[in-house]
Amino acid sequence: MPVLVCCSFIRRWLYVILLMNAVIECNTSNNLLYCAHIQMSILDRLLNTSPERIAAIPSKGRFAPSPSGRMHLGNIYAALMSYISAKANGGSWLLRIEDIDTQRSRRKWADMIMSDLDWLGLGWDEGPVYQSERTEVYEGALKDLSDMGLVYPCTCTRAELMASRAPHATDGHIPYAGRCRPMSPCFGAGLLPATLRVMVPPYPSGHAFPSSPDVVVRFDDRICGPQEVDLSANFGDFVLRRRDGSWAYQLAVAVDDAMMGVTEVVRGDDLLLSTAPQRYLTSLLGLVSPQSYAHLPLLKNADGLRLSKRDGAMSMEYLRASYGPSEVVAMVCQAASVDSEEMLSLLRAYA
Ligand code: GLU
Ligand code: ZN
Repeated sequence: MPVLVCCSFIRRWLYVILLMNAVIECNTSNNLLYCAHIQMSILDRLLNTSPERIAAIPSKGRFAPSPSGRMHLGNIYAALMSYISAKANGGSWLLRIEDIDTQRSRRKWADMIMSDLDWLGLGWDEGPVYQSERTEVYEGALKDLSDMGLVYPCTCTRAELMASRAPHATDGHIPYAGRCRPMSPCFGAGLLPATLRVMVPPYPSGHAFPSSPDVVVRFDDRICGPQEVDLSANFGDFVLRRRDGSWAYQLAVAVDDAMMGVTEVVRGDDLLLSTAPQRYLTSLLGLVSPQSYAHLPLLKNADGLRLSKRDGAMSMEYLRASYGPSEVVAMVCQAASVDSEEMLSLLRAYA
């Protein structure tokens, strides 16, 4: 009997030690974000060609940088992953320069971004397309939405917006509480020099809109899993065009992704929620949204904390002066817990 007790005691401890080893292995593995035995790595998820993605051939990915400064490790990560994902599916890769913010965008930064992509060996198959040259397209979309009676002018000042904001502000978004929303549909809103907003459901009563989409937008993210975003709670009636005439990010991206035939979006997870207003606009406009989304987690430093400027070596200016392209790719992979050898061999294969 004492022998049996002793055996079971030892067995239990052996089991605990084995378990601890497994945990340590998960935490110290430098090439996978997740424990290999439990979850797929990000690279596996992006390379995974599901039946829907195969059906989407010819697939098209895109990289859509804002030219407001030099690329840094975070942008390089988004560029690398969207490139690899598109190419793994035999698809093409589009470069779109998102320069609608005229205050912050500079042509010299756009040129630098292209030079940096070249240096990294990431060649684009289409573009560069400049959003600043697509005013007519965005005007057409605004007119269509306006003709549906869904667009209205908002004259709120910043202080009023802050004061009247809806109680829950999520993920940096301040949901608009609807202060200027008309009681009935609004037509011809484009005439006013004001911020223009689009109504999200519930719409004002007494009008038959061409379609009445669900206020909850659902999509399945290839990294973050199934998502349900309530437009009203997270955004409220959101901005399409600012008072100074500049186009809002949501309108430009929704229209461009759809009209350029983008089938897959790979970008940072700070834009996960934005997928909802973008898909909502696309469906109102009768366009086809991208089929798949993959939102990448933020890069981490060696301590597992969000990578910031304080960690240094962020800007391409420094990186290009100090390292070669493969070393920079390896650094990004390290911060993203992605297998750098696999990434480099994929890049060689797709070059
Ligand atoms: N232009 C945006 C940025 O640089 C990215 C837009 C997108 O990928 O949808 O943050
Ligand atoms: Zn307002």
